[in-house]
Amino acid sequence: MRDGELLEPGQVALLGVPWDAHSSFLRGPALAPRQIRAALQSGAMNLCAENGLDLSSDNRWRDLGDLTIPAGDEAALTTITGAIASVLERGARVFALGGDHAVSFPLLRAYGEAHPGLTVLHLDAHPDLYDELDGDRLSHACPFARALEEGHIARLVQVGIRTLNLHQREQARRFGVEVVEMRDWRPGMDLRLSGPLYLSLDLDALDPAFAPGVSHHEPGGFTTREVLGIIQSLPVPLSGADLVELNPVRDPSGITAALAAKLVKEIMAQMLDDGAAARAARP
Ligand code: MN
Ligand code: MN
Repeated sequence: MRDGELLEPGQVALLGVPWDAHSSFLRGPALAPRQIRAALQSGAMNLCAENGLDLSSDNRWRDLGDLTIPAGDEAALTTITGAIASVLERGARVFALGGDHAVSFPLLRAYGEAHPGLTVLHLDAHPDLYDELDGDRLSHACPFARALEEGHIARLVQVGIRTLNLHQREQARRFGVEVVEMRDWRPGMDLRLSGPLYLSLDLDALDPAFAPGVSHHEPGGFTTREVLGIIQSLPVPLSGADLVELNPVRDPSGITAALAAKLVKEIMAQMLDDGAAARAARP
């Protein structure tokens, strides 16, 4: 991580969290931040979001590069939470690029501390509520169970879910999670979201036809346009966000990295939107 001391209040820090030590099936997401940056900088796309906001000339965000993740779980968790907390202490916000979904637990530890009453909108094929998976309580299948146990989330709204088993249904009930299963979701559905709001976006929420470069292919998911619609219609600017589970090992064509780069632009634009850009784009 670099230049964190230069952050100003209100700015958004883009921060890579290259950690996939707790992926249950395939490693690879630790390679994602550099692939997403490469897609953003490739020249194949410009840095303009759909609302007209041009990230190439907007100084309200700063790329802090990637965290260096130390060996050992406790050290990794402490490093991630500490880095996020240092950004939040400056009055800035974080947009984190995973890594697998295990990164969300240490991220939300810092966010829960800084933002009591935090609502988390979680887009995913999977609820990630396992108490443990294969004996691993830090698994990328568990981060929301950990964050809820420690009280870092006031309201968890999950959308796109299509893999609920009995254990995870019981976990959702136990923690009061609001689950909108994919089969029940409709465009424009009012999720009654309010701030402070955090978005956790697992790329496997999208159908593997749109996002093949992920570890867990679960058909029946969102189109790209549907996810863009959800992001663009959020009622309050995001206080924080993470984009996780791009697996470059499964993305030889780079199509999923390009999708991730597109989502980076749109999420960043949502975080920075003061209304002016949208009005300029739609007179
Ligand atoms: Mn997930
Ligand atoms: Mn998932």
